[in-house]
Amino acid sequence: MSDAGEWRTWICLVCGFVYDEAAGLPEEGIAPGTRWEDVPPNWTCPECGARKDDFEMAPL
Ligand SMILES: [Zn+2]
Repeated sequence: MSDAGEWRTWICLVCGFVYDEAAGLPEEGIAPGTRWEDVPPNWTCPECGARKDDFEMAPL
């Protein structure tokens, strides 16, 4: 649990959409505080439909 509280953001490499773990995506059924690894594997970018594989961790 060494990184508890360290929220990360992930960027869609296709369209630039940003997923913020702290904010989640409540309108997509993903609660605030949902870690990227806990986002369902079949989730896709709400902007362009890219898969999780097409996202990259954003530099802080
Ligand atoms: Zn996208």
